[in-house]
Amino acid sequence: MPSRSALFSQRSLILTLLLLLACGFLATSLLGYFASRSAIRDGIVNTELPLTSDTVYSEIQKDLIRPVLISSMMAQDTFLRDWVLAGEQDAERITRYLGEVMGNQDTCTAFFVSERTLTYYQAKGVLKQIRPGTWRDAWYYRLRELNEPYEINVDLDMANQDKLTVFINYRVLDYQGQFIGAAGVGLSVESVVKLIDDYQRRYQRSVFFTDASGKVLLTGSEGAAHGLRVGQQLAESREFEQLLARMPIPGTGSHDYLDSEGHSHFLNVRQIPELDWYLLVDKRETGALERVRQSLYLNLAICAMITLVVLSLLHAMVKRHQDSIEALATLDSLTGLPNRRSFDLLAGQALQEAQRDSTPLVALLIDLDHFKVLNDTHGHLAGDEVLRQFANVLQGSLRQSDILCRWGGEEFIVLLREADGRQAFDVAEKIRRRTEQLTFSYNDQPLRLTTSIGLSSLQRDDTLHTLLTRADHALYRAKQGGRNRVCCETAS
Ligand code: GH3
Ligand code: MG
Ligand code: MG
Repeated sequence: MPSRSALFSQRSLILTLLLLLACGFLATSLLGYFASRSAIRDGIVNTELPLTSDTVYSEIQKDLIRPVLISSMMAQDTFLRDWVLAGEQDAERITRYLGEVMGNQDTCTAFFVSERTLTYYQAKGVLKQIRPGTWRDAWYYRLRELNEPYEINVDLDMANQDKLTVFINYRVLDYQGQFIGAAGVGLSVESVVKLIDDYQRRYQRSVFFTDASGKVLLTGSEGAAHGLRVGQQLAESREFEQLLARMPIPGTGSHDYLDSEGHSHFLNVRQIPELDWYLLVDKRETGALERVRQSLYLNLAICAMITLVVLSLLHAMVKRHQDSIEALATLDSLTGLPNRRSFDLLAGQALQEAQRDSTPLVALLIDLDHFKVLNDTHGHLAGDEVLRQFANVLQGSLRQSDILCRWGGEEFIVLLREADGRQAFDVAEKIRRRTEQLTFSYNDQPLRLTTSIGLSSLQRDDTLHTLLTRADHALYRAKQGGRNRVCCETAS
């Protein structure tokens, strides 16, 4: 049985190794995970989102430059200015002019608003009268006071089923530089919306525009991030709560925040100076990191398996090693019989049982005769071989339940359980006779031996010591009596 300290050190060895392996594996797996995560985050923040932002920005610029040129051309057109200065006679002429601009330049609308009459002309005729104080016409009064030559405005086009349109509103001045009206064209933002849709679908990110106050101005066909619609404020979505708590209006640059469900998001904000708009590109981190997280879990599972296999192999090895050490400690290495140490344990138990159950128990002390002579004549190795063969003789003469051990040198002890003096004497005689009759051999040399046996039966108050002392006395008498004989104790 392994000692408590051996068990303890085995357990602490396995625990230490478990701790080392677990810490090592955990550290490398987590380091790998965090390195991949930060590489992915860097990729999103520094490359992916700015790239999307650049592309959408250049697309919108492309869409804007052409109408600005057309509108500037209209504002400087001598026909238009002369017609206005001549008192806006014959509206047919201006509508034909606007129709030509629209048809030739492929814009979705072309218009002129006269400062003198406040009439809104477009390709199909007079659309309406401009009225101060109405939200639809606010743009005109803004333009009137503007220091710049034009403004860009995204609005619903009344002449075009209220379609979302980018208007370029150009100030028209007479030859003395007096403001005489507004001219320009409108282009549908469909190509930008299509681009946004494409980006949102392909790269799982939200692309949308807001003004400086955080009001959503333009989105893909499905709306902005977190279900926001055109006209809504960012603050109307609970998902932006955490971000807006930090900054009321997300400024230009990269931000990260957690939505209301705790998912991490990255948000890239870029100003579009031509429009005074903000382009926002939002991406949820989870999707991008899912694979890295899965590979972390797989990694950890593999590490756990390796740890388990290593530990169970180690446990098996330690146990085997321990078993063999224990066997070495309890068995005699020459004969393979239990040694004196294990005999003490087995005998103590047998004695207790016999005394408790009042069953007979007999001890035989067996000593080979003139063994020294055999050693001296044939050598120590011959003596060893004879001891091994004699051990076999003893084992062959006993029952499974009997206890046999090598007491030391050429002496052996047998404890016969549940055998009375007579039966025990017969067993001892059998051993003596077999030894006498057997021809031992070493290197094909025949060797003959005899043995003397002392026998003692367990008495009620016996200890192992008193029992064996009596057996020793009996053996002494057998030796004295001429050897090759069995002598029984005389209980004192
Ligand atoms: P007796 O008949 O009185 O018992 O004489 P003996 O020679 O057998 O007794 P003694 O005690 O004088 O000698 C025992 C010898 O056994 C001496 C020792 O060298 C030898 N011996 C003890 N252990 C071993 C062993 O493991 N191998 C060998 N070859 N010899 C051993
Ligand atoms: Mg001897
Ligand atoms: Mg001896």
